[in-house]
Amino acid sequence: MEELIPEDDCCTLCHLLLFDPIKTNWGQVCKFCQLGKNDEMKAMHKDDLCTLCHQLLYDTIKTRCGHVLCKSCMVDYAMGSLPNAMYAVHVDANPSDQLQSPGNLKYLVAPCPVCDNNNGEGVVPSPEKCTELRNKYPITYAEREAKAAHAEPEPGGDEGVQTITLCIGNTHQARPRPEGSTKGDRLHDWVVFAKVSRNDIILGVRFSYRGSGSENFVMEKPYKIADYAKRPLPVKVSVILKSRYIWVSEHADNYSRDGDKRQVKADWKLDFESHNGKGAMGLWRLKFKRRV
Ligand SMILES: [Zn+2]
Ligand SMILES: [Zn+2]
Ligand SMILES: [Zn+2]
Repeated sequence: MEELIPEDDCCTLCHLLLFDPIKTNWGQVCKFCQLGKNDEMKAMHKDDLCTLCHQLLYDTIKTRCGHVLCKSCMVDYAMGSLPNAMYAVHVDANPSDQLQSPGNLKYLVAPCPVCDNNNGEGVVPSPEKCTELRNKYPITYAEREAKAAHAEPEPGGDEGVQTITLCIGNTHQARPRPEGSTKGDRLHDWVVFAKVSRNDIILGVRFSYRGSGSENFVMEKPYKIADYAKRPLPVKVSVILKSRYIWVSEHADNYSRDGDKRQVKADWKLDFESHNGKGAMGLWRLKFKRRV
């Protein structure tokens, strides 16, 4: 008959009754298991390490180019980097609601962090790799699992670094052809917009595109511009913080001559096709802090 061991008396790595236990900040482990982990680490193949976190790959995904990464690392990477990576979300979604914890890989659009190949919407879960790694490194994998379960929510107080959700996208409507005409390009009305989860830190949003003649600097929300075109064209969108704040991102640029990284830029390509022609939207999670 199996005895039921209380969870507190179980080793986080072997899940058996603790033997000669040592305490870690993610649970108690047998000393013997901890030593076994060190042996696994020594024998670990470099291909089994994540390019982004440099730990054993965990809860893996595969890019279209075949590179494997931890899912959480890939999501963080895609959401925190402009301008090529993003989370594609429904054009009607609101930056402050359910987007806080995206989990749907289907919408992840990012260049591969390993080879920079633009894999588009090619990220898929890779359960076979998880099984392989679990068999190859049972103790280290169990440790990754335990750490993930004990993961603290993002530290808000970290040098005052905060997070903002930024959505950039466009809506679209095709104009009907003039009566009697069946040929020639149709005209398309479009609106490009930027939505943010925190308006109080934003100075304004600058939109520019070929043919517009001048730049459009919108200082009040809603941050958007409207025009029409025959074909989709690229629109540059810069989100600029008030002078008290700076972006914490390698993708941020100086704004004016104050030398502070107060603007992030994205190249948005108008989308006339997605969501039955309604438009498209990308989502980023970006870090910022108060200037000291
Ligand atoms: Zn153990
Ligand atoms: Zn990783
Ligand atoms: Zn790749």
